Amino acid sequence: MRPLLLLDFDGPLNPYRSRETPPGYVRHEIVEGERTWEVRINPQHGVELKALAGTFDLVWATSWEHGANRLLSPLLGLPSDLPTILWPDRTPVRRGSWKTPYVADWVGNRPFVWIDDDVDSDDVRFFRRDHQLVHQVDPRTGLTATDFAAIRAWADGKSFADKEIPPHP
Ligand SMILES: [Mg+2]
Repeated sequence: MRPLLLLDFDGPLNPYRSRETPPGYVRHEIVEGERTWEVRINPQHGVELKALAGTFDLVWATSWEHGANRLLSPLLGLPSDLPTILWPDRTPVRRGSWKTPYVADWVGNRPFVWIDDDVDSDDVRFFRRDHQLVHQVDPRTGLTATDFAAIRAWADGKSFADKEIPPHP
């Protein structure tokens, strides 16, 4: 079973907490209808993610929801038909990320890495099984070489063959 790589956008792929546009990033204005968003994207991230797609199934796990495939995938050079997790309710919760229950439902028993800037130790504790990795990314820098190395090291250290969901009796 291939592991999933759940991708948050704002933070890991758009370092919105950085004052300047960091080296390697390109500023984009996304216009759709009356709305305009400013994002900063690192084309190298697209290259890295496409390489990781050899191991992982990429999944959007961002508040952009379907907008991620429509508006963000083309800027990163990613396929525009990635599976997308939807968030029926984004009310902040007392502990951890409001995304966590939806992520849990969506992944089921599949192994996964979830990259997000807005996760904390409660989310790490919630997804504490061996085939689950919650990886926090600094929204001032976006994904760095260190983050990509951590994702690859996690995948290299696993055998996913034994992670099949047992069939119903
Ligand atoms: Mg985020």
